[in-house]
Amino acid sequence: MKSKNGYFGQYGGAFVSQSLSPLLQEIESNFKAYIQDDDFKNELECIQKNFIGRPTPLLYAENLTKHLNGAKIYFKLECLTNTGAHKINNAVGQALLAKRMGKKRIIAETGAGQHGIATACICARLGLDCEIYMGRIDMERQRPNVFWMEMFGAKVIPVDKGTKTLTDAVDEAFRVWETRTEDTYYLIGSALGPAPYPDMVREFQSIIGKEVKSQFLEREHSLPDIIIACVGGGSNSIGVFAEFLNDSEVELIGVEAGGNGEHIGEHSLRMSGKDASVGCIQGYKSFFLHDGDSLLPTHSISAGLDYAGIGPQLAFLGETGRIKFTKAMDNEAINAIKLTAKCEGIVPALESSHAIAEAIRIAPTLDPAKRIVVNISGRGDKDIFITSKAIASEEWSEFLSEEINRINTQNAV
Ligand SMILES: *Cc1c(COP(=O)(O)O)cnc(C)c1O
Repeated sequence: MKSKNGYFGQYGGAFVSQSLSPLLQEIESNFKAYIQDDDFKNELECIQKNFIGRPTPLLYAENLTKHLNGAKIYFKLECLTNTGAHKINNAVGQALLAKRMGKKRIIAETGAGQHGIATACICARLGLDCEIYMGRIDMERQRPNVFWMEMFGAKVIPVDKGTKTLTDAVDEAFRVWETRTEDTYYLIGSALGPAPYPDMVREFQSIIGKEVKSQFLEREHSLPDIIIACVGGGSNSIGVFAEFLNDSEVELIGVEAGGNGEHIGEHSLRMSGKDASVGCIQGYKSFFLHDGDSLLPTHSISAGLDYAGIGPQLAFLGETGRIKFTKAMDNEAINAIKLTAKCEGIVPALESSHAIAEAIRIAPTLDPAKRIVVNISGRGDKDIFITSKAIASEEWSEFLSEEINRINTQNAV
């Protein structure tokens, strides 16, 4: 389902400065043309197959299903892509588009660093200059991801304004873009921002749901009953849902981060909580946790779900009831990782674990003939500093302090 002039119901639009408007229009017309162009489609397919590693498998989570003794659970393994998360699907699509448009410099914002890594990765492959804007505090918190971005040849630029986190990184990327538009393309990382980004990101992520549909039909000769995905900005969820929007028999569930409490600053609930309302922030109209112009603090154990806005199409599909929104708490996500690792030999990202937590909750209540697909948006290696602290705090602290001793001893020699 495409937007109508950039709107999904009352949500969406493009609220940007006059200098950026023509640029967004240029991107939109190029996107519309290239997405129909055989040469572009072939190049995209080739890179999806040989660089990203698509199609990703659809795994029957047999042991988890037996353990829960209810509906059958399948995992769509986006965790097996290059860089280990679905974000690469979008980064590749937009980077190819930028290259066709003759842009040589890619800029992007990143919060936790996952979108920065995906962008830096494809820029390395395509030989494009890459600048990643990242809040100073996020850079300090996510040092390993900064390391990988720089390894890919990207310049990571600290943002010292405001709260020095994702929100400020987005503002800064827009500001920098305005000062240099001819050769520069702003590659947004989720299904949000001003039109045409929500349409583009959905299009490039919809490969997930298209694969699920054909893989599931081939194996089960019918459609799944329920599809579950976690929701940050909304790109992996709209990516897996898009192909099923018209299949009304398929229930679609989006899981937001319940964090560790009900108060502002303890969660990231836009659709499944009581604190969010309609606003017009960072270029688009949607549901936000905000007080007028500025976004409110949010929390989630998973960096990718720790965000105050949501893509306009998801806001609309939530309002119409096509997508049902629910939440999973920090500790439920941790429990989901433990169970998934033990049962299936898979370590999901903390974000994806929120979706698994919902499957764990509902599967036992459903008939064994029902089938659930959970989108495993990414792998959990990146979260080791958080998960290990939550699961084995003492051993982990001990390891870290010994590691520092080892480094100091080596340096002394
Ligand atoms: C960024 C991220 C998310 C959340 O972003 P969406 O745009 O909502 O998909 C989810 N899972 C992983 C692994 C991520 O890196």
